[in-house]
Amino acid sequence: IVENHGRDTRQLLSILREVQHEFRQVSPEAQQKVAESLGVCITQVRAVVDFYSFLSTVPLGKFDIRISDSITDHMLGSREVAAGLCRKLGIQPGEPRQDGRVGLSFTSCTGLCDQGPAGLINGYAIPRLTEDRTDQIARLINDDIPLGEWPEEFFAIKENIRLADRLLGNPVRPGEALERTLALDRETMFGEIETSQLRGRGGAGFNTAWKWRFCYEGPETAAVCPPGQPAAGIERYVVCNADEGEPGTFKDRVLLQSCADQVFEGMTVCAYLVGAKQGFLYLRGEYLYLHDQLEAVLAARRRHGLLGKSILGREGFDFDIEIRLGAGAYICGEESALIESLEGNRGVPRNRPPYPVTHGYLGKPTVVNNVETFFAAAAIAVHGGEWFAEVGTEKSKGTKLLSICGDCARPGIYEYPFGVTIRQVLEDCGAADVLGVQIGGPSGTFLSDKECDRKLAYEDLATGGSFIVFDRTRDVIGIARNFTHFFAHESCGFCTPCRVGTALLKNLLDKIAEGHGATGDLAELSRLGRFVRSASHCGLGQTAANPILSTLERYPEIYQARLKTIDFEPGFDLDGALATARRLSGRDDANAHLSQS
Ligand code: SF4
Repeated sequence: IVENHGRDTRQLLSILREVQHEFRQVSPEAQQKVAESLGVCITQVRAVVDFYSFLSTVPLGKFDIRISDSITDHMLGSREVAAGLCRKLGIQPGEPRQDGRVGLSFTSCTGLCDQGPAGLINGYAIPRLTEDRTDQIARLINDDIPLGEWPEEFFAIKENIRLADRLLGNPVRPGEALERTLALDRETMFGEIETSQLRGRGGAGFNTAWKWRFCYEGPETAAVCPPGQPAAGIERYVVCNADEGEPGTFKDRVLLQSCADQVFEGMTVCAYLVGAKQGFLYLRGEYLYLHDQLEAVLAARRRHGLLGKSILGREGFDFDIEIRLGAGAYICGEESALIESLEGNRGVPRNRPPYPVTHGYLGKPTVVNNVETFFAAAAIAVHGGEWFAEVGTEKSKGTKLLSICGDCARPGIYEYPFGVTIRQVLEDCGAADVLGVQIGGPSGTFLSDKECDRKLAYEDLATGGSFIVFDRTRDVIGIARNFTHFFAHESCGFCTPCRVGTALLKNLLDKIAEGHGATGDLAELSRLGRFVRSASHCGLGQTAANPILSTLERYPEIYQARLKTIDFEPGFDLDGALATARRLSGRDDANAHLSQS
């Protein structure tokens, strides 16, 4: 395995994934062998194995089932599904069956919130786990039928595009954006991206044209070259962040499933503009099922001269894309953590500055953009910046893809011009009797039903695209609790405020949710939440308390009502005990008495 990866330490995660696939575990002996073959210290290998939740040092069941722990899967009955499967298979969660045939555990969101309850079997996504389907799964496992012989419909993932606007409604033909890019000069195409005012669609919203230009003309190049000219010999990289781990988000899954060519086209346009020769698609491990079809799209693009050497016959325009799989670490969605992972390390966020755009993969200028950003960039290259910027708001041009799920009749993908109101979205997706909406996933904001006139736009509510609807049957504290457990689980452990703080928040919220909290606990929850927000190293820690703080602010009465009630029955008569003192002092006025109330 190590040989197949060219003994390249940057491929360490891919190597370990393959070892696990082959031997159902990454045993200490296997780790030692990998370390020796790569010529690295064993601690480096161990550290990586420990970091990624999909890597196991103990044998996994031959059928390894992981049920999604996402809030939307809970709402669709995932806990009951897991209990039912355990019963039918004769196992307990977290403990493989004695014959080694099967094991079941829980995992963070699998990106199938629109078709849950969902899970993974040997890494492959399996949606809609109904009672009937779990009966069949248990039978197949008990009969030891290989996964490849299971009914195909078990693994069928629906596209679920419900509303298309100018991007989804105007797909780009393979090569179309590149032809136009090559027909224009570089500055004209940079100008189109600038005119579009496209902002990164991962949530942070940085101006895409600026990012690409910084990469092309970054500080190192500016020192040695005239303005607007890149330095010869400096390698640059283009990375597509497909580590879509925010619970409630699945739009990138749909884009990669249905429009991968356009995403790769956007990456190639970017590569041409910034002068990159190598690109990566960092695909979250949960989307393993997309891997082969994405490789097929890349192979077709190479055959048609849209990737590889001299793209579309343009001498010197060489670019190719490699797919790298993650392994169950939400933090790798953070761009510098993602780059660490690409380099074969633990996905720990780097100190910034310097930013990846100037010091990214292998310390070289690197553009990291979200799947939707590259998808939009390809359309802009074809239709122009003005076409894109015609819709939206002043600071949020174009359209945004939303992943809508939860308590609504029509979950799926909806494309809206920026500026759409929450009310409009709720109406379109068939939500009724709404309690609130979680915008932007657990790290975003919980809005109450009184805030439906707020708008999705950087001026009001910025979002990466997750939109989870909750109706009035849902428990606000239960929602905040699920999200807080998620962050405590996904904290990478690098900095103390987040590592310890998220665990403390989780424990305190559990105590309150179970009815054992006191008034002081609410004050402590708020104080601790604000501390974790201000003192953490990266975005995960800085937003981990959002679910608590935003629900506490909107629903203080719900938290208050959950506190422990104490019926106080005095066992000691305090005022009576003072009777002797009153007699001796000769006082019997009001101030010489104590109230028991
Ligand atoms: Fe890791 Fe959390 Fe610190 Fe980010 S804030 S570096 S996730 S421990």
